[in-house]
Parts: sequence; C-alpha cells; structure tokens
Amino acid sequence: MTKIAIFPGSFDPFTKGHEDIVLRGLQIFDKIIIAVGYNSNKTRHFDIEKMLSKINGHYHNNSNIEVITYNELTAHLAIKHKAEFLLRGLRNTTDFEYENSISQVNRDLNKKLETVFLITSPEYAAINSSIVREVHKYGGDVSKYLPFTI
Ligand code: ADP
Repeated sequence: MTKIAIFPGSFDPFTKGHEDIVLRGLQIFDKIIIAVGYNSNKTRHFDIEKMLSKINGHYHNNSNIEVITYNELTAHLAIKHKAEFLLRGLRNTTDFEYENSISQVNRDLNKKLETVFLITSPEYAAINSSIVREVHKYGGDVSKYLPFTI
C-alpha cells in the first residue's frame, strides 16, 4: 500500500526547518504532499501562489513530493488525496500543546487519519516562520533560514 502523507502548514515562508521534516518524512512515506494552507487566523506576508511556486521549483526533481495550496479542513483534504497520514514537526512544548489538540480534532473528523510527528533537528529548532517574516519585513537577510532565494 502506498503511504501518502500530507504536510500541511502556512509555510509563510517555507524554511529549512520545514525542509528537514520533508526530507526525513520521505524515509517513512512513499509520497509527501506539501499543502500550503490559507490560515484564517494569520495574514500572510509572502504571497501564497509565490510560495507554492518557490517550493515547487525547489522540489521539481523529486517525483515523491507534490505541492498544493488549500482552503478547507485538512482532514477533508486528506480524504480527497487518499492520504492516511499528516506529517507535522515539533520544536518545543508550545508546538506540542497546539499539535496535541489539533491532531485529536483531525482524527475525530477523519477516523483514518494518523498524525505523525517528527522532532526538529537541533540545528533547525530555532527557525520560526514568524521571526523570519519579521526579519524580512524590516529588510534583514533571511537567506540562511530558507532552502531557496526569495
Ligand atoms: P502552521 O501555521 O500550520 O503552524 P507552519 O508553517 O508554522 O504552519 O508550520 C508547519 C509545521 O512545521 C508545524 O508542524 C510546525 O510545528 C513545523 N515546523 C515549523 N518550523 C519548524 C522547524 N524549524 N523545525 C521543525 N518543524 C517545524
């Protein structure tokens, strides 16, 4: 059976921390769908279509990775794509608190959905999209946090 995982997130922007989760996830799953979501609680800094095309360009040689945008419940998106797994990264207890409740709700909405968590690699633990956004907003160099130029 093909193991398909969705890696959902705002990816505003997609960082080296996210990339690390994707690459390690490929050792577990046959296919990973990176799903860039419209988050109703967050106003984006980086345009969603631009981020889609940047991530797509970065992985264009990898047939096991697909990149999409979405604007619906992640649990429903998974059914549509025949994905039985959600992939998420955990950096700290703040991530855990949030991920714990969201994974319970997702499984409630879609009984076949298992969320798989990968603990961040220490070298990427401090990389946080919201801090990268702030640095970029005020003209700082964010290139070392991202897997591609923006
Ligand atoms: P969301 O808005 O859904 O939290 P993010 O783009 O901030 O989306 O994060 C997507 C996923 O990647 C989350 O599971 C988050 O915990 C994880 N993540 C973010 N940054 C890192 C990092 N530096 N290392 C590992 N995982 C990370």
